[in-house]
Amino acid sequence: MSDSCSPGHKHRRVLPRVGRVFAMGAAGALVAVAAGAPVRSASADTARQLPARFTRSPYSLMSLSVGSPNDGWQLRSRELRSRPSLAIKSNSASNAFAHPSLVFMLQRSADEVAREFPGSVLLVGDLSAEHGGPLAGHRSHQSGRDADVAFYVRDGRGRSFQPERFVAFGTNGQSITHRGLVFDEARNFKLVASWLRDGRARVTNIFVARELRQRLLAHGARIADRVPVDRMATVLSQPAGECTHNDHFHVRIACPDRQDAVCEEAPR
Ligand SMILES: [Zn+2]
Repeated sequence: MSDSCSPGHKHRRVLPRVGRVFAMGAAGALVAVAAGAPVRSASADTARQLPARFTRSPYSLMSLSVGSPNDGWQLRSRELRSRPSLAIKSNSASNAFAHPSLVFMLQRSADEVAREFPGSVLLVGDLSAEHGGPLAGHRSHQSGRDADVAFYVRDGRGRSFQPERFVAFGTNGQSITHRGLVFDEARNFKLVASWLRDGRARVTNIFVARELRQRLLAHGARIADRVPVDRMATVLSQPAGECTHNDHFHVRIACPDRQDAVCEEAPR
């Protein structure tokens, strides 16, 4: 089972972003972030660069998502913390940083599921590193807009089961790695519906294995949920490549408002 693989849409080596320059219109010169206190990547001693206006208010007060999901970084990220409805996977504690829109969405959705299904705890894996950039085991997760999230799981008697790591499922909804565990359609549907209804963070992609996607769509049709099934069908997909996402959701949000000049929606 894989705890961390993420779609970048292309199999490519992640390039270091030392001295990276962003395409600009007539916006002016590029400057190092926060002159006098340059932001540095973990592996480079060259300051990351932003268009000049992004170093001044109001941008200087914002969390910024820079570049693309698989070639980017972030500034003034927010850390996702554990709460009664949400736990951080043990080996993901240092990669629990993202744009606040994503952090708050995960918190809201975990709370919402726990309200309907008391005692539920959403297990969250990697988001991004505090300052973003390449993350081991992932192609994306670089700019604070991606999160890996465990499925809600039931045991063979239908009781809620709290996993401590990702659990993989096969076509019949039974775990292929943890005998007796079952994909919890009701809670996972509730989670995805919460993300899609979230008006503040705009979800652009949810990657999940094809057969689990079908289970969620079928569940939505059965309970006639208000979230249009076609919207869910559009956003949920199994990415191309070797990682089928049969053990976690990978959710991605859109670029934050007013950051189009530095934030790229699609992977490169
Ligand atoms: Zn991922």
